[in-house]
Amino acid sequence: MSVRPLALSDDELSSCVGCGLCLPHCPTFRVTNEEALSPRGRIATIRSIQYEGRQIDEQVSEILNTCVQCRGCEPACPSGVPYGRLIEAAKNEMANQHQAAPWWQRFGLRLLRHHRLLLIGTPILAVAQRLHLIPKRAGLSPLPFRLGSPVISTSPSPDVWLFTGCIMDAWQRSTHRSAGALIHAIGFSLGIPSKAGSCCGALHSHAGLQIEARKLAISVMTSMPGTSPIVVDSAGCGAALKDYGHLLRTPEAVAFSERVFDIHEWLEPHMQSLMQSRQPISSKPSIIVQDPCHLRHVQKSHLAVRSILSPVANLIEIDDDGLCCGAGGAYSVVEPELARQIRDRLVRNIMAKSPIEKTLVASANPGCLMHLQAAGLIVKHPVDILAEALGLVPTTVQPREKGTA
Ligand code: SF4
Ligand code: SF4
Repeated sequence: MSVRPLALSDDELSSCVGCGLCLPHCPTFRVTNEEALSPRGRIATIRSIQYEGRQIDEQVSEILNTCVQCRGCEPACPSGVPYGRLIEAAKNEMANQHQAAPWWQRFGLRLLRHHRLLLIGTPILAVAQRLHLIPKRAGLSPLPFRLGSPVISTSPSPDVWLFTGCIMDAWQRSTHRSAGALIHAIGFSLGIPSKAGSCCGALHSHAGLQIEARKLAISVMTSMPGTSPIVVDSAGCGAALKDYGHLLRTPEAVAFSERVFDIHEWLEPHMQSLMQSRQPISSKPSIIVQDPCHLRHVQKSHLAVRSILSPVANLIEIDDDGLCCGAGGAYSVVEPELARQIRDRLVRNIMAKSPIEKTLVASANPGCLMHLQAAGLIVKHPVDILAEALGLVPTTVQPREKGTA
Protein backbone atom coordinates (compact mmCIF):
# COMPACT_ATOMS: atom_id res chain seq x y z
CA MET A 1 0.00 0.00 0.00
CA SER A 2 1.91 3.07 -1.21
CA VAL A 3 1.49 6.51 0.30
CA ARG A 4 1.67 9.48 -2.07
CA PRO A 5 2.07 13.25 -1.51
CA LEU A 6 -1.40 13.81 -0.01
CA ALA A 7 -0.76 11.22 2.71
CA LEU A 8 -3.59 9.12 1.33
CA SER A 9 -3.33 5.46 0.44
CA ASP A 10 -4.29 4.10 -2.98
CA ASP A 11 -6.91 2.00 -1.20
CA GLU A 12 -8.58 5.08 0.25
CA LEU A 13 -8.63 6.91 -3.07
CA SER A 14 -9.67 4.00 -5.24
CA SER A 15 -12.63 3.01 -3.06
CA CYS A 16 -14.98 5.40 -4.92
CA VAL A 17 -16.60 3.55 -7.83
CA GLY A 18 -18.39 6.64 -9.12
CA CYS A 19 -21.93 5.28 -8.58
CA GLY A 20 -23.28 8.70 -7.58
CA LEU A 21 -25.51 7.41 -4.77
CA CYS A 22 -24.02 10.06 -2.48
CA LEU A 23 -25.05 12.99 -4.69
CA PRO A 24 -28.57 13.57 -3.28
CA HIS A 25 -27.07 13.60 0.23
CA CYS A 26 -24.61 16.39 -0.57
CA PRO A 27 -25.91 19.86 0.34
CA THR A 28 -23.66 21.72 -2.11
CA PHE A 29 -24.70 19.47 -4.99
CA ARG A 30 -28.36 19.86 -4.00
CA VAL A 31 -28.23 23.65 -4.25
CA THR A 32 -25.83 24.02 -7.22
CA ASN A 33 -26.47 20.85 -9.26
CA GLU A 34 -22.78 20.98 -10.25
CA GLU A 35 -20.89 17.69 -10.49
CA ALA A 36 -17.65 19.37 -9.38
CA LEU A 37 -19.35 20.41 -6.13
CA SER A 38 -20.53 16.87 -5.33
CA PRO A 39 -18.61 14.22 -3.34
CA ARG A 40 -17.84 12.31 -6.56
CA GLY A 41 -16.60 15.48 -8.24
CA ARG A 42 -14.43 16.43 -5.29
CA ILE A 43 -12.94 12.93 -5.09
CA ALA A 44 -12.06 13.20 -8.80
CA THR A 45 -10.32 16.50 -8.06
CA ILE A 46 -8.40 15.02 -5.12
CA ARG A 47 -7.34 12.09 -7.33
CA SER A 48 -6.07 14.51 -9.97
CA ILE A 49 -3.90 16.22 -7.35
CA GLN A 50 -2.57 12.89 -6.17
CA TYR A 51 -1.99 11.08 -9.45
CA GLU A 52 -1.70 13.79 -12.10
CA GLY A 53 0.15 16.39 -10.06
CA ARG A 54 -2.65 18.92 -10.57
CA GLN A 55 -1.77 22.26 -9.04
CA ILE A 56 -3.94 23.64 -6.25
CA ASP A 57 -5.09 26.68 -8.18
CA GLU A 58 -8.10 28.92 -7.67
CA GLN A 59 -10.51 26.43 -9.26
CA VAL A 60 -9.31 23.53 -7.11
CA SER A 61 -9.46 25.73 -4.00
CA GLU A 62 -13.06 26.64 -4.76
CA ILE A 63 -14.08 23.03 -5.31
CA LEU A 64 -12.54 21.95 -2.01
CA ASN A 65 -13.36 25.03 0.09
CA THR A 66 -17.05 24.90 -0.80
CA CYS A 67 -17.32 21.45 0.81
CA VAL A 68 -19.14 21.94 4.14
CA GLN A 69 -17.31 18.86 5.51
CA CYS A 70 -20.69 17.67 6.78
CA ARG A 71 -19.83 14.07 5.77
CA GLY A 72 -23.42 13.42 4.78
CA CYS A 73 -21.93 11.54 1.83
CA GLU A 74 -20.27 8.89 4.04
CA PRO A 75 -23.31 6.98 5.35
CA ALA A 76 -24.88 7.18 1.87
CA CYS A 77 -21.90 5.49 0.22
CA PRO A 78 -22.23 1.71 -0.32
CA SER A 79 -18.46 1.42 -0.93
CA GLY A 80 -17.51 2.92 2.44
CA VAL A 81 -15.43 5.75 0.97
CA PRO A 82 -13.72 7.55 3.88
CA TYR A 83 -14.56 10.97 2.44
CA GLY A 84 -13.70 12.82 5.67
CA ARG A 85 -10.12 11.54 5.50
CA LEU A 86 -9.81 12.50 1.82
CA ILE A 87 -10.95 16.09 2.22
CA GLU A 88 -8.92 16.48 5.42
CA ALA A 89 -5.72 15.40 3.61
CA ALA A 90 -6.46 17.68 0.64
CA LYS A 91 -7.16 20.69 2.86
CA ASN A 92 -3.98 20.01 4.79
CA GLU A 93 -2.02 20.08 1.53
CA MET A 94 -3.72 23.34 0.60
CA ALA A 95 -2.63 24.80 3.94
CA ASN A 96 0.94 23.60 3.31
CA GLN A 97 0.84 25.49 0.03
CA HIS A 98 -0.54 28.57 1.87
CA GLN A 99 -3.80 28.31 -0.02
CA ALA A 100 -6.21 27.20 2.66
CA ALA A 101 -7.87 29.69 4.97
CA PRO A 102 -7.62 33.43 4.24
CA TRP A 103 -5.46 35.50 6.64
CA TRP A 104 -8.45 36.85 8.60
CA GLN A 105 -9.73 33.33 9.19
CA ARG A 106 -6.31 32.14 10.37
CA PHE A 107 -6.08 35.20 12.65
CA GLY A 108 -9.55 34.44 14.09
CA LEU A 109 -8.62 30.81 14.65
CA ARG A 110 -5.46 31.85 16.50
CA LEU A 111 -7.58 33.94 18.88
CA LEU A 112 -9.59 30.88 19.91
CA ARG A 113 -6.75 29.61 22.08
CA HIS A 114 -6.83 32.90 24.08
CA HIS A 115 -9.99 32.20 26.01
CA ARG A 116 -9.85 35.27 28.26
CA LEU A 117 -9.64 37.51 25.21
CA LEU A 118 -12.67 35.77 23.72
CA LEU A 119 -14.64 36.29 26.94
CA ILE A 120 -13.67 39.99 27.13
CA GLY A 121 -14.29 40.51 23.41
CA THR A 122 -17.76 38.97 23.32
CA PRO A 123 -19.71 41.92 24.86
CA ILE A 124 -17.74 44.28 22.56
CA LEU A 125 -18.72 42.16 19.56
CA ALA A 126 -22.33 42.17 20.81
CA VAL A 127 -22.34 45.99 20.87
CA ALA A 128 -20.74 46.12 17.41
CA GLN A 129 -23.39 43.73 16.16
CA ARG A 130 -26.25 45.86 17.54
CA LEU A 131 -24.66 48.91 15.84
CA HIS A 132 -24.71 46.94 12.56
CA LEU A 133 -20.90 47.00 12.36
CA ILE A 134 -20.84 43.23 11.80
CA PRO A 135 -22.23 42.37 8.36
CA LYS A 136 -25.47 40.38 8.41
CA ARG A 137 -23.99 37.98 5.89
CA ALA A 138 -21.74 36.71 8.71
CA GLY A 139 -24.93 34.88 9.75
CA LEU A 140 -24.57 35.37 13.52
CA SER A 141 -27.59 35.34 15.78
CA PRO A 142 -27.55 38.05 18.53
CA LEU A 143 -24.45 37.64 20.72
CA PRO A 144 -24.85 37.93 24.51
CA PHE A 145 -23.92 41.14 26.37
CA ARG A 146 -23.56 39.17 29.59
CA LEU A 147 -21.94 35.77 29.75
CA GLY A 148 -23.47 34.64 33.04
CA SER A 149 -21.63 32.65 35.67
CA PRO A 150 -19.31 29.88 34.47
CA VAL A 151 -19.81 26.24 35.41
CA ILE A 152 -17.31 25.38 38.15
CA SER A 153 -15.62 22.15 39.15
CA THR A 154 -17.10 20.48 42.23
CA SER A 155 -14.27 17.99 42.66
CA PRO A 156 -10.54 17.84 41.80
CA SER A 157 -11.07 14.22 40.71
CA PRO A 158 -14.59 14.39 39.30
CA ASP A 159 -16.90 11.57 38.28
CA VAL A 160 -17.47 13.34 34.96
CA TRP A 161 -15.65 16.07 33.01
CA LEU A 162 -17.68 18.61 31.04
CA PHE A 163 -15.70 20.01 28.09
CA THR A 164 -16.63 23.70 27.82
CA GLY A 165 -14.59 24.79 24.77
CA CYS A 166 -13.93 28.26 23.37
CA ILE A 167 -16.75 29.96 21.42
CA MET A 168 -19.52 28.00 23.12
CA ASP A 169 -18.32 29.01 26.59
CA ALA A 170 -18.39 32.66 25.49
CA TRP A 171 -21.59 32.70 23.43
CA GLN A 172 -23.76 29.87 24.80
CA ARG A 173 -22.59 29.39 28.36
CA SER A 174 -26.13 28.81 29.61
CA THR A 175 -26.09 25.42 27.85
CA HIS A 176 -23.07 24.40 29.92
CA ARG A 177 -25.01 25.41 33.03
CA SER A 178 -27.91 23.19 31.90
CA ALA A 179 -25.52 20.30 31.24
CA GLY A 180 -23.91 20.81 34.67
CA ALA A 181 -27.33 20.92 36.37
CA LEU A 182 -28.34 17.63 34.73
CA ILE A 183 -25.07 15.92 35.68
CA HIS A 184 -25.53 17.07 39.30
CA ALA A 185 -29.20 16.03 39.35
CA ILE A 186 -28.17 12.50 38.32
CA GLY A 187 -25.78 12.52 41.29
CA PHE A 188 -22.30 12.94 39.78
CA SER A 189 -19.52 15.35 40.71
CA LEU A 190 -18.38 17.56 37.85
CA GLY A 191 -14.99 18.74 36.59
CA ILE A 192 -14.17 21.53 34.15
CA PRO A 193 -10.95 21.41 32.06
CA SER A 194 -8.01 23.55 33.16
CA LYS A 195 -7.13 26.63 31.06
CA ALA A 196 -5.07 24.47 28.69
CA GLY A 197 -8.24 22.81 27.41
CA SER A 198 -10.12 25.78 26.07
CA CYS A 199 -10.23 24.91 22.35
CA CYS A 200 -10.64 21.47 20.74
CA GLY A 201 -9.09 22.43 17.38
CA ALA A 202 -12.07 21.32 15.25
CA LEU A 203 -12.17 24.55 13.24
CA HIS A 204 -8.39 24.39 12.70
CA SER A 205 -8.71 20.84 11.43
CA HIS A 206 -11.51 21.85 9.02
CA ALA A 207 -9.34 24.66 7.68
CA GLY A 208 -6.48 22.21 7.02
CA LEU A 209 -4.33 23.61 9.85
CA GLN A 210 -3.32 20.21 11.18
CA ILE A 211 -0.24 21.36 13.10
CA GLU A 212 -2.31 23.81 15.17
CA ALA A 213 -5.06 21.20 15.59
CA ARG A 214 -2.54 18.69 16.96
CA LYS A 215 -1.08 21.21 19.43
CA LEU A 216 -4.57 22.03 20.71
CA ALA A 217 -5.46 18.34 21.00
CA ILE A 218 -2.40 17.70 23.18
CA SER A 219 -3.35 20.66 25.42
CA VAL A 220 -6.94 19.44 25.76
CA MET A 221 -5.72 15.98 26.76
CA THR A 222 -3.62 17.43 29.59
CA SER A 223 -6.56 19.53 30.82
CA MET A 224 -8.74 16.55 31.81
CA PRO A 225 -6.49 13.90 33.40
CA GLY A 226 -7.58 10.57 34.82
CA THR A 227 -10.02 8.04 33.50
CA SER A 228 -13.42 9.69 34.14
CA PRO A 229 -15.74 10.11 31.16
CA ILE A 230 -15.62 13.39 29.25
CA VAL A 231 -19.00 14.69 28.10
CA VAL A 232 -19.35 17.26 25.36
CA ASP A 233 -22.45 19.37 24.61
CA SER A 234 -21.23 20.61 21.20
CA ALA A 235 -21.56 18.05 18.40
CA GLY A 236 -18.61 19.54 16.49
CA CYS A 237 -16.27 19.58 19.51
CA GLY A 238 -17.35 16.07 20.53
CA ALA A 239 -16.54 14.72 17.07
CA ALA A 240 -13.11 16.40 17.24
CA LEU A 241 -12.28 14.98 20.70
CA LYS A 242 -13.38 11.51 19.57
CA ASP A 243 -10.97 11.83 16.61
CA TYR A 244 -7.82 12.63 18.64
CA GLY A 245 -6.73 9.00 18.38
CA HIS A 246 -6.63 9.34 14.59
CA LEU A 247 -5.21 12.90 14.65
CA LEU A 248 -2.30 12.17 17.01
CA ARG A 249 -1.91 8.42 16.44
CA THR A 250 -0.65 7.75 19.99
CA PRO A 251 -1.95 5.18 22.52
CA GLU A 252 -2.66 8.07 24.95
CA ALA A 253 -4.80 9.87 22.37
CA VAL A 254 -6.68 6.67 21.52
CA ALA A 255 -7.37 6.08 25.26
CA PHE A 256 -8.48 9.72 25.67
CA SER A 257 -10.91 9.52 22.73
CA GLU A 258 -12.47 6.39 24.22
CA ARG A 259 -13.44 8.45 27.30
CA VAL A 260 -15.40 11.00 25.21
CA PHE A 261 -19.22 10.95 25.02
CA ASP A 262 -21.67 13.28 23.42
CA ILE A 263 -23.83 14.60 26.30
CA HIS A 264 -26.99 12.97 24.95
CA GLU A 265 -25.22 9.67 24.53
CA TRP A 266 -24.02 9.94 28.14
CA LEU A 267 -27.40 11.05 29.52
CA GLU A 268 -29.43 8.33 27.75
CA PRO A 269 -28.74 5.46 30.20
CA HIS A 270 -29.35 7.80 33.17
CA MET A 271 -32.74 9.06 31.98
CA GLN A 272 -34.80 6.54 33.90
CA SER A 273 -33.32 7.50 37.27
CA LEU A 274 -33.46 11.21 36.37
CA MET A 275 -37.14 11.02 35.47
CA GLN A 276 -37.89 9.07 38.66
CA SER A 277 -36.44 11.87 40.77
CA ARG A 278 -37.74 14.83 38.72
CA GLN A 279 -41.11 15.61 37.16
CA PRO A 280 -41.60 17.94 34.16
CA ILE A 281 -42.90 21.31 35.39
CA SER A 282 -45.09 22.01 32.35
CA SER A 283 -46.95 20.25 29.54
CA LYS A 284 -45.01 18.81 26.62
CA PRO A 285 -44.18 21.30 23.83
CA SER A 286 -43.92 20.20 20.18
CA ILE A 287 -40.33 20.29 19.00
CA ILE A 288 -38.72 19.73 15.60
CA VAL A 289 -35.42 17.89 15.89
CA GLN A 290 -32.55 19.05 13.67
CA ASP A 291 -29.61 16.66 13.48
CA PRO A 292 -26.20 18.36 13.38
CA CYS A 293 -24.02 16.55 10.84
CA HIS A 294 -21.25 15.90 13.35
CA LEU A 295 -23.75 14.24 15.64
CA ARG A 296 -25.58 12.18 12.99
CA HIS A 297 -23.03 11.35 10.30
CA VAL A 298 -19.82 11.43 12.36
CA GLN A 299 -20.68 10.45 15.97
CA LYS A 300 -23.90 8.61 15.03
CA SER A 301 -25.42 9.68 18.36
CA HIS A 302 -28.46 11.55 17.01
CA LEU A 303 -31.01 9.00 18.26
CA ALA A 304 -29.93 9.73 21.85
CA VAL A 305 -31.27 13.30 21.40
CA ARG A 306 -34.71 11.80 20.78
CA SER A 307 -34.38 9.49 23.80
CA ILE A 308 -33.62 12.32 26.20
CA LEU A 309 -36.23 14.72 24.79
CA SER A 310 -39.17 12.34 24.36
CA PRO A 311 -40.09 12.28 28.10
CA VAL A 312 -40.54 16.08 28.05
CA ALA A 313 -41.59 16.93 24.46
CA ASN A 314 -43.61 15.75 21.47
CA LEU A 315 -41.02 15.31 18.76
CA ILE A 316 -41.53 16.11 15.08
CA GLU A 317 -39.16 14.69 12.46
CA ILE A 318 -38.13 16.61 9.33
CA ASP A 319 -37.61 13.42 7.24
CA ASP A 320 -34.71 14.74 5.14
CA ASP A 321 -32.04 12.15 6.01
CA GLY A 322 -30.12 14.66 8.12
CA LEU A 323 -29.20 16.99 5.27
CA CYS A 324 -26.80 19.70 6.42
CA CYS A 325 -28.04 23.15 7.56
CA GLY A 326 -25.02 24.93 6.04
CA ALA A 327 -23.39 26.11 9.29
CA GLY A 328 -20.32 23.85 8.98
CA GLY A 329 -18.04 25.36 11.67
CA ALA A 330 -16.85 28.60 10.09
CA TYR A 331 -18.47 27.75 6.70
CA SER A 332 -21.38 30.17 7.15
CA VAL A 333 -18.84 33.00 7.52
CA VAL A 334 -16.41 31.86 4.81
CA GLU A 335 -19.04 30.79 2.23
CA PRO A 336 -22.07 32.89 3.28
CA GLU A 337 -24.03 32.63 0.01
CA LEU A 338 -23.88 28.84 -0.29
CA ALA A 339 -24.50 28.51 3.45
CA ARG A 340 -27.65 30.62 3.09
CA GLN A 341 -28.92 28.60 0.14
CA ILE A 342 -28.35 25.34 2.01
CA ARG A 343 -30.11 26.74 5.09
CA ASP A 344 -33.07 28.01 3.04
CA ARG A 345 -33.73 24.46 1.88
CA LEU A 346 -33.84 23.22 5.48
CA VAL A 347 -35.99 26.13 6.66
CA ARG A 348 -38.51 25.29 3.92
CA ASN A 349 -38.62 21.69 5.19
CA ILE A 350 -39.14 22.89 8.76
CA MET A 351 -41.88 25.29 7.72
CA ALA A 352 -43.61 22.48 5.84
CA LYS A 353 -43.91 20.68 9.18
CA SER A 354 -44.99 23.63 11.28
CA PRO A 355 -45.43 27.40 10.79
CA ILE A 356 -42.18 29.17 11.63
CA GLU A 357 -43.78 31.51 14.20
CA LYS A 358 -44.47 28.77 16.69
CA THR A 359 -41.90 26.13 15.88
CA LEU A 360 -39.31 25.29 18.49
CA VAL A 361 -36.31 23.56 16.94
CA ALA A 362 -33.82 21.48 18.94
CA SER A 363 -30.21 21.54 17.71
CA ALA A 364 -27.26 19.99 19.54
CA ASN A 365 -24.51 22.02 17.91
CA PRO A 366 -23.76 25.69 18.71
CA GLY A 367 -22.90 26.55 15.09
CA CYS A 368 -26.11 25.03 13.65
CA LEU A 369 -28.13 26.62 16.44
CA MET A 370 -26.86 30.13 15.67
CA HIS A 371 -27.10 29.64 11.90
CA LEU A 372 -30.76 28.61 12.19
CA GLN A 373 -31.54 31.34 14.72
CA ALA A 374 -30.14 33.87 12.23
CA ALA A 375 -32.85 32.65 9.80
CA GLY A 376 -35.54 33.62 12.32
CA LEU A 377 -36.21 30.21 13.85
CA ILE A 378 -36.52 29.69 17.59
CA VAL A 379 -33.81 27.17 18.36
CA LYS A 380 -32.62 25.68 21.63
CA HIS A 381 -30.07 23.10 22.64
CA PRO A 382 -31.74 19.80 23.69
CA VAL A 383 -29.90 19.97 27.01
CA ASP A 384 -31.46 23.40 27.72
CA ILE A 385 -34.89 22.04 26.78
CA LEU A 386 -34.53 19.08 29.16
CA ALA A 387 -33.04 21.04 32.09
CA GLU A 388 -35.73 23.74 31.76
CA ALA A 389 -38.53 21.18 31.50
CA LEU A 390 -37.36 19.58 34.75
CA GLY A 391 -37.06 22.95 36.51
CA LEU A 392 -33.28 22.62 36.96
CA VAL A 393 -32.53 25.98 35.30
CA PRO A 394 -34.69 29.06 34.59
CA THR A 395 -36.72 28.96 31.38
CA THR A 396 -35.37 31.18 28.62
CA VAL A 397 -37.03 31.76 25.23
CA GLN A 398 -40.46 30.21 24.71
CA PRO A 399 -41.81 29.39 21.25
CA ARG A 400 -43.99 32.24 20.03
CA GLU A 401 -47.55 31.55 19.05
CA LYS A 402 -48.48 32.75 15.59
CA GLY A 403 -49.23 36.46 15.58
CA THR A 404 -47.51 37.29 18.89
CA ALA A 405 -44.38 39.44 19.19
S1 SF4 B 1 -18.36 8.37 -2.83
FE1 SF4 B 1 -19.43 6.39 -2.66
S2 SF4 B 1 -21.57 6.86 -3.19
FE2 SF4 B 1 -20.32 8.60 -3.91
S3 SF4 B 1 -19.84 8.11 -6.04
FE3 SF4 B 1 -18.13 7.31 -4.81
S4 SF4 B 1 -18.66 5.17 -4.38
FE4 SF4 B 1 -20.57 6.18 -5.09
S1 SF4 C 1 -18.82 16.43 3.16
FE1 SF4 C 1 -20.88 17.26 2.78
S2 SF4 C 1 -20.58 19.02 1.39
FE2 SF4 C 1 -18.68 17.80 1.35
S3 SF4 C 1 -18.93 16.43 -0.38
FE3 SF4 C 1 -19.66 15.28 1.43
S4 SF4 C 1 -21.88 15.69 1.49
FE4 SF4 C 1 -20.97 17.22 0.07
